[in-house]
Amino acid sequence: MTGVAARRHLRRWTRRFREARMLVAALRFKYQPVNAHLIPIRRCNLSCSYCNEYDDHSLPVPTHEIIRRVDRLAILGTGIITISGGEPLLHPDLEMIVRHIRRRGAIATVITNGYLLTRDRIQRLNRAGLDHLQISIDNVLPDDVSVKSLKVLDQKLRWLASGATFDVTVNSVVGAGVRNPSDALTIAQRARELGFSTTVGIIHNGTGQLLALDDPQRMILEAIVALGSSAFDFANYNLFQKNLAAGTPNDWHCRAGARYLYVCEDGLVHWCSQQRGHPGIPLEEYGEHHLRTEYHRDKDCAPFCTVGCVHRVGQVDELRHDPERALGTWFAAPGEGLPPRLPVPVRVLRWAFVTSPRRGIFRKAVARIIGGRRVGIILPVRPPE
Ligand code: SF4
Ligand code: SF4
Repeated sequence: MTGVAARRHLRRWTRRFREARMLVAALRFKYQPVNAHLIPIRRCNLSCSYCNEYDDHSLPVPTHEIIRRVDRLAILGTGIITISGGEPLLHPDLEMIVRHIRRRGAIATVITNGYLLTRDRIQRLNRAGLDHLQISIDNVLPDDVSVKSLKVLDQKLRWLASGATFDVTVNSVVGAGVRNPSDALTIAQRARELGFSTTVGIIHNGTGQLLALDDPQRMILEAIVALGSSAFDFANYNLFQKNLAAGTPNDWHCRAGARYLYVCEDGLVHWCSQQRGHPGIPLEEYGEHHLRTEYHRDKDCAPFCTVGCVHRVGQVDELRHDPERALGTWFAAPGEGLPPRLPVPVRVLRWAFVTSPRRGIFRKAVARIIGGRRVGIILPVRPPE
């Protein structure tokens, strides 16, 4: 095993423990955010024609301001802080921000188009303690819609495979505007070959709503979902996308504004990138009262919403609220009236924490061993340099 592979292995195990701790906290305390997207820069080096989340001119948010926002998110108890944009690699102090997220005890994630990755930048992100990096790749060859292409980015993927100690997820897209639907499958297969996780997004309209898929697009989506992952990998749970692909609304409660926060470059909290302006409250004023209100609020845009990260966060509350129903839905058998097909490890966990007469003891033991925190101040914090 090479030095990088050994370090990656070790860091992956410590990360799994921190993720488990974050999940326990999310299950114990419903009014604390699971994931917050933080925008340190709105500018992007690319201009994908479907995108409504970038401009070509704005300056990076000052680092001390971003650090303050990280602190505020930590105080709210946020488990995962995801840096996106625009293009976050354009922020000159990205590594300092990642390091600060880690110091505050949260899981640090970056979403990038990958163009600005170099071997040196990957090493700097390793040293900063980055946990996850997501790269979005739209097609195999660049076209007039997007230049985020496998042809251009394959070299970056190889550098990541050989040099990154953080987890890498490659996101591909299907839907309107993608010229060759089969590109998404080619991209996902290449990502798996290099040892990365994969997700697939459905291109949406300007408010996050579904643009209907045709038959070839639906088949490609299902093939990528079938590439699958572990039963415990909530990030790759894609049942909601199968519904969307079939044009069927999802029956779920969007917890945006509570379990998921979108903090724009101006420091305002929004439901998500596609519903900016709701509620549009400054993060420094955002508190438990707002988290409670937004947790219970019904959102009209929910049934045909395609915003995957908010759906994934919503799973935590499905599990928290009614574990039997949640597991029954996630692992439903193909035929009607058949019992759900739970994988063995899920059956064991279900017995220990849901159905066993001793479930109270098991739950207390896990809460004691793994922990989970009410607020985010658990590590000493150095002032920003
Ligand atoms: S790379 Fe990402 S942020 Fe930049 S224009 Fe494309 S989709 Fe938007
Ligand atoms: S349902 Fe939630 S995540 Fe989806 S568009 Fe509406 S507010 Fe955003």
